[in-house]
Amino acid sequence: MSSEQLNPFAIAQAQLDEAAEQLKLDPATHQLLRTPLRELHVTLPVKMDDGSTKIFQGFRVQYNDSRGPTKGGIRFHFEETIDTVRALAAWMTWKCAVVDIPLGGGKGGVVCDPRSMSPGELERLSRAYIRQVGRIIGLEKDVLAPDVYTTPQIMAWMMDEYSFMKGENEFGVITGKPLPLGGSAGRGDATARGGIFTLREAGKVLGLELKGATAAVQGYGNAGSFAHKLGEELLGLKIVAVSDSRGGIYNPDGMKYAEVFKHKQDTGKVAGFKGAKEVTNEELLELDVDVLFPSALENVITAENAERIKAKVSVELANGPTTPEADKILHKNGTYVIPDFLANAGGVTVSYFEMVQNAYDYYWEEEEVHKRLDKKMTAAFHTVHETAQEHEVHNRLAAYMVAINRVAEAMQLRGWV
Ligand code: GLU
Repeated sequence: MSSEQLNPFAIAQAQLDEAAEQLKLDPATHQLLRTPLRELHVTLPVKMDDGSTKIFQGFRVQYNDSRGPTKGGIRFHFEETIDTVRALAAWMTWKCAVVDIPLGGGKGGVVCDPRSMSPGELERLSRAYIRQVGRIIGLEKDVLAPDVYTTPQIMAWMMDEYSFMKGENEFGVITGKPLPLGGSAGRGDATARGGIFTLREAGKVLGLELKGATAAVQGYGNAGSFAHKLGEELLGLKIVAVSDSRGGIYNPDGMKYAEVFKHKQDTGKVAGFKGAKEVTNEELLELDVDVLFPSALENVITAENAERIKAKVSVELANGPTTPEADKILHKNGTYVIPDFLANAGGVTVSYFEMVQNAYDYYWEEEEVHKRLDKKMTAAFHTVHETAQEHEVHNRLAAYMVAINRVAEAMQLRGWV
């Protein structure tokens, strides 16, 4: 067993430290970027369907708002910890900076297992969360969004609760809403679409033919399932393996999105799909494929398995899937990593577009959203790629350098450092 550090916040700080050294960042700026500006811990009593009251723990972390209001999702997960939320809030800060949208980074979480809760219980939990964090969020302060196990319906309940607290409709306080409540066209698949745009650009700079290239997708939530769909539709990838939390499936001849998605809808899992061999989540990562999409949770590519990763490109749609030790190994072995806060920035980019549309109360066509998203993702990809080339560093470090420079500049101009 490796003794590698797997605490996500310690990892986020270690990544920052490496970039700070490379940039020769002044100590005050470095120190200020190492910890969240603010965080709120909340305790939530929720009436359950059986008449009992259950007490949940929740968090909201506002990491850095020098470039604009903090922005980031809320996760409902049984393994949520404050350090995970801190790490995710830090990564949101870098994410908004790398795609150059005028927002800071934040994140929220509730320790719960949404899969074992009824819709009524989930609604009461969502409203209880907003009643507590309502005092620190707002259009100009901190804007929420979906993340792991939180849905447009949950966003609708949260927006509704906040609107009651304020005494007026406040659509812009949360993004990823359903379309009839001020959601944006194109937000649903934006995370995956943005990742696919960066992969398309990577294909160009690497001279890698993506049509017919093989791919494996780990995770079949919002990011992973749309990566399957759009990988097929936009790039002609051949998806040979996919997985969800219950296990994975592999077929070297490829598997069509429409069929796998229907199977998952019918049975609740991807396992058992006709003609496919069962694989574990761990085995899926090590398959001999051209492209890998880690699209589930943190710390799946570590010092323990990185040597066995064979993919030519890893498009990190999950947040934090690769540890710093694994990064070095992948770089040495020539796997081209499109790092998480670049690869998955499409979600927050369209969230930003949603905020803009809410502010104007005027809504764009889906095509318009796709076009603007493409422009943002393509520009960010090339800035990071060129920085990596110029400084001879791995892509994650390059992405950090681009993002930190932007945040540091804002803090300096504001007179914070
Ligand atoms: N939760 C998503 C992320 O990690 C989206 C955040 C947002 O849209 O604000 O990027």
